[in-house]
Amino acid sequence: MKIHLSFDYELFFGAHSGTLEKCILEPTNKLRELAKKHKTPFIFFIDAGYIYQLKKNIENKFCLKWYQQISAQIKQLHDEGHEIALHVHPHWEDCTIENDNWKMITSRYKLADYTKQETKEIITKYHSVLTEITGVKCKSYRAGGWCIQPFEHIKEGLINNELLIDSSVYFNGFHESPAHSYDFRNCPDKTEWKFDNDCCVENANGKFKEIAITGDLILPTFYMNLYLKMKSNPEYYRPVGDGSWLKDKFKIYKQFYSSTNHFACADGYFASRLKQILIKQAKSNKNRMMVLSHPKSLAQCSFDLLDEFINFAKEKGHHFTVLKNEA
Ligand SMILES: [Zn+2]
Repeated sequence: MKIHLSFDYELFFGAHSGTLEKCILEPTNKLRELAKKHKTPFIFFIDAGYIYQLKKNIENKFCLKWYQQISAQIKQLHDEGHEIALHVHPHWEDCTIENDNWKMITSRYKLADYTKQETKEIITKYHSVLTEITGVKCKSYRAGGWCIQPFEHIKEGLINNELLIDSSVYFNGFHESPAHSYDFRNCPDKTEWKFDNDCCVENANGKFKEIAITGDLILPTFYMNLYLKMKSNPEYYRPVGDGSWLKDKFKIYKQFYSSTNHFACADGYFASRLKQILIKQAKSNKNRMMVLSHPKSLAQCSFDLLDEFINFAKEKGHHFTVLKNEA
């Protein structure tokens, strides 16, 4: 089986963005060490809108420093063989900075909130800040907040940028909130498929390839267990990022009384589920497992669990790889 460890490389979008150091640089450096130890490449879906804003505000001394730090790390990741892929959170269009403080405005959180023309321009200008750093075009795309629908709305922007691999869909995923909107409840129960106008409808002649994020059904007991662990040893189980999530309270409460459709993930204690997800994928003869995590949400336990998981998967003969070579 091919296993893809992917990381959405970004700040927080709630009331506090958190710092570049804690949310991105520090945890990513730990991931670089882990990757070196195991000789496994990872995939980084870079929130390029953030970097676009840093460049735009380069006369601000903080933005200048952050731009230098983040572009140096992205270059390092690229040089070390990791895949640099495009992640678009278009609400950066509306964000402003005062001193070292981002004012996050999330009323236009998804590309569907912009016109088709604006969408094309956003994808192209965000993509170009990454190619400027690495010298290479990205091949793979992941929508910010999974909001990739309606796909037709963004299709042209992706074609113009030759971004023909998508990894935004997870089985049975569904979320409606003021910011988010996605519905993958009708997507194929497969690890990959071709598509054209709708990312949830397989089309053998489609231009695009979906490499789906592996689904995971989570029982309320997991969240109770997590809650207790966080209380007993916060240093070990609490994510390293120092910002706050764009929260959907209803969704959080729901997790405690009914099963939730989540996805394979190494954030915090979720990393403890990877082994059993892998076993399940292998049992059902699946050819891939795509894990989605965030550097900002990794805890010390995640690094230990990821280390264990990589050893476990390699012993079973699976291998860790990136997507760009499949384009
Ligand atoms: Zn994101």
